[in-house]
This record gives sequence, structure tokens and C-alpha cells, in this order.
Amino acid sequence: APRKLAAGNWKMNGDLAALAELDLLREAHPEPGCEVLICPPALLIHPMKARLGAHATAVGGQDCHANASGAHTGDISASQLKDAGATYVILGHSERRADHGETDADVAAKAAAAHGAELTAIICVGETEAQRDAGETLAVIGAQLAGSLPEGASAANTVIAYEPVWAIGTGRTPTEAQIAEVHAFMRERIQDRVGDADEARLLYGGSVKPANAAEIFALPHVDGALVGGASLKAADFGAIISAL
Ligand code: 13P
Repeated sequence: APRKLAAGNWKMNGDLAALAELDLLREAHPEPGCEVLICPPALLIHPMKARLGAHATAVGGQDCHANASGAHTGDISASQLKDAGATYVILGHSERRADHGETDADVAAKAAAAHGAELTAIICVGETEAQRDAGETLAVIGAQLAGSLPEGASAANTVIAYEPVWAIGTGRTPTEAQIAEVHAFMRERIQDRVGDADEARLLYGGSVKPANAAEIFALPHVDGALVGGASLKAADFGAIISAL
């Protein structure tokens, strides 16, 4: 089984002063028992990496452009993230799909760029509440996986995060059976896409907090979490790391 991953997504939160949280995290978890990743706003990648020093926490981006460089005002390339100290990048988060109209094809192109820059892509999928109510959850996830994973995706360079849109920032989580169903489905679906699917890490995201982390992590095919709000405070994120 793959090594578990606790990934924090700071979204559009945090500033240089917020990096003090990392000192607390380092002190509380000098040698975490799982892989730890924080994806701050791009401006903070370099100072965060510096602040972490020799600590094992990895740093990642929240998006990248599909091209390596050029006339794309306001965008950041995968190689620029890498240059700043990132080793991961989140792609296709539902907030980017909604706010920026990103399609599965866009996500696949960005993931290919990430792989080209030797970044591990965390590709996000998830159904809306209306899609779940209509019984379309597995069809939606299947289509997103089929469209968002690029050629060359492997268990080593690609992580999949299941984030039901209705569970993000709402305090609502799917039942254990609902998470287990989607994760088992994803494991099976990526088999012919990533080589050794058993080695691929499948994360759950959406209102993960210290109080529910242990039960979610105990589910089959859950190899970690993508944590939003609870990743901003070292005490909460540390408790989630401990639960893994
Ligand atoms: P919350 O943990 O705040 O629900 O956010 C989840 C998420 O979107 C992580 O990418």
C-alpha cells in the first residue's frame, strides 16, 4: 500500500505572518508518520519551503498553466512552481472548475505540464449535490477521471483526490459507505491508466477535521486527505496528521 498523504490546501488564505504556523507544526511533528504536504498561495511557496528548513513537509501549488512559459499574464507555469520549491500541484479543484471554467481537457493538459516539470499532480474530482441526488455520482467521477488524467500518468506522479463539491467548506461529509464506494470505484477505474493502481494514492477531501479524520482514514482505499480549512491551523492539521 502507498504511504499515506496529509495534504493541506490553504486556498486564497494566509500571508507571510501565517508561516509561523509551520513552526508549531514542526515542533509538534518533528518526524510525521505520513507524508505531509502544504499547498499555499503561490507567493508563499518559496518562503514556506525556506521556513520549513530540513523538515520533511513538502510544498505545492494550487494550479499551473499548461504551457511552460510565454505570454500568459497572471499565470504560473509548472516549472516556475518547481523552481520555487514545489514538488506537488493541485489541479482541477472544483473551485477552479467553477470559478475559471476549467474543463477535464484543461486539467489533463495542466497535469501533463506538471509531469513534464517533475511535479506530482493531485487531480481533483467530485460530484455536485444535484448530481448525487440524481444518482449520477459514479458516472460523473468516471468521466472526470477519463478526461482529466493525461497520457503518462502513473501511480508515482499522480494522486487523485475525491472531493464532493457539496462537502467542501460545509461541515457536511458523505457517509462512510459513500466514501468507500467512490474510492473503490476510482481504484478500479484508474487501473488501466496509471499502471499499478494499488500504489496510487487516493485522497478524500471535504470538511475533514480532527473529529472525523480517523474514521475516514480507516476506510478501504483512502490513502490520505486533502484538507482545506483545517489545514490553516497547526493544531488541527497536526491532529489530522496524527490520525493518519
Ligand atoms: P474544506 O476542508 O475546507 O472543506 O476544503 C476541502 C478542500 O476543498 C480541499 O481542497
